[in-house]
Amino acid sequence: NTQINDFVIDDKVIQNIFKVRQNFAHKGTYGKSIIVGGSYGKIGAVVLATKSALKTGSGLTFVLAPNCGYEILQTSVPEAMFMDGGENFINQIEAVESTVYGIGPGLGKEKETEKAVLEFLKNHQAPLILDADALNIISKDKSYLKLIPKKSIITPHPKEFERLFGTTENSFERLDLARTKAKELGIYIVLKDHHTQVVTPEGKVFYNITGNSGLAKGGSGDILTGIITSLLAQKYSEEKSAILGVWLHGKAADFASEKYSKEAMQPTDVINEIGNVFLYLN
Ligand code: AMP
Ligand code: MG
Repeated sequence: NTQINDFVIDDKVIQNIFKVRQNFAHKGTYGKSIIVGGSYGKIGAVVLATKSALKTGSGLTFVLAPNCGYEILQTSVPEAMFMDGGENFINQIEAVESTVYGIGPGLGKEKETEKAVLEFLKNHQAPLILDADALNIISKDKSYLKLIPKKSIITPHPKEFERLFGTTENSFERLDLARTKAKELGIYIVLKDHHTQVVTPEGKVFYNITGNSGLAKGGSGDILTGIITSLLAQKYSEEKSAILGVWLHGKAADFASEKYSKEAMQPTDVINEIGNVFLYLN
């Protein structure tokens, strides 16, 4: 089989994916995103994901979090509409029509949160983004994997990948296993790492070459979740949302490291560079 299945995400690939914002757009043109996550002491993760969804251009942005995050979220991200999912952790996930869900940042693994996530997945067919504790919840039982809607995008870091699919000897074997699982489950797997790989249900692999070790800090992954959720809501295909998402995230991190250093740059600085990445593309 001589068919090429592996690609590098370079500027040319991105220029072909990126769509210039339409002059006659209104907020309905650019979709509805909802970030679901947060628990007592981990509201920051949803703040980062929600800000990132907004910065990436989502038309309407909701955030479903426990009530302990209400004031924090309405103050730090006033552009987003708050939905109450519980007291100190999420125990219910409301379904909002034609809204793209990004579930996981700061979610926690309380029994009731687990129930709410599984219940939601049982009743939800549209592709969505799953990250962090949403993936850890799914890892608890192999039968839960089948609840992931087809064409969804999951964004595990190596440890989360291992919890989901088991251990491998090295990164080559891990990528092989990701190809197998992406095909088997009909989903996109974003293997987060130094060079993040986007694995498609057809078994194609896209290597990201943006990003740097300034991202090796808590909160970096939450930004990626917000970005990809926002792109999918804006009607980029699942494949394009994942590819453009990882590239944007890394590029914003590269801009942030040039300004502040890899050591000092914070996830918030990465979010604040997203605008400069769009200026670079436009
Ligand atoms: P998480 O572990 O969920 O916070 O995700 C970390 C994010 O930062 C992922 O998007 C990784 O690809 C990225 N990241 C972490 N460390 C590095 C690194 N050394 N080089 C490039 N990207 C990194
Ligand atoms: Mg994470």
